[in-house]
Amino acid sequence: MGLISLASSRSAWFGYEYYKDKNVKNYKQINENEYEGSVAGSGKNLYHVFLNIKNPRFSKCDCPFAKDKRIICKHLVALFFTILPHEVDKYLKKIEENQREAELWEEELHKKVEKYIRSLSKEALKEALHEILYQSPEWIFDRFVRDRIY
Ligand SMILES: [Zn+2]
Repeated sequence: MGLISLASSRSAWFGYEYYKDKNVKNYKQINENEYEGSVAGSGKNLYHVFLNIKNPRFSKCDCPFAKDKRIICKHLVALFFTILPHEVDKYLKKIEENQREAELWEEELHKKVEKYIRSLSKEALKEALHEILYQSPEWIFDRFVRDRIY
């Protein structure tokens, strides 16, 4: 999972899609930890990718996004998944976990807000609502200004 954790979530996801769409056109192993290959970009471009599995930071791609930078781009991710398909399962599992965590967190937040609202007196509720509406100029505009002008 080393390389994936260095990639942005965007690059990881698009790299996964490139892997699925078989954008990796060819690759060869250079030595125990190093590979190079060609990965098709979104257009007709073919990028040259150099991958170091042990030290992902030494990996390179000549696409405009990653060229001369130590960035893990989607082309590197695609090659990584092609060479190590079991990493795909780990990656997908992690995404699922994160999603579940986010859902739980949202549920928890919802409960807390609900509990908080129920604990407030009518006066306090009015005050809180007033404060929230006052901080949403577009709501005030919709409700009071637009109707009068148009
Ligand atoms: Zn790239």
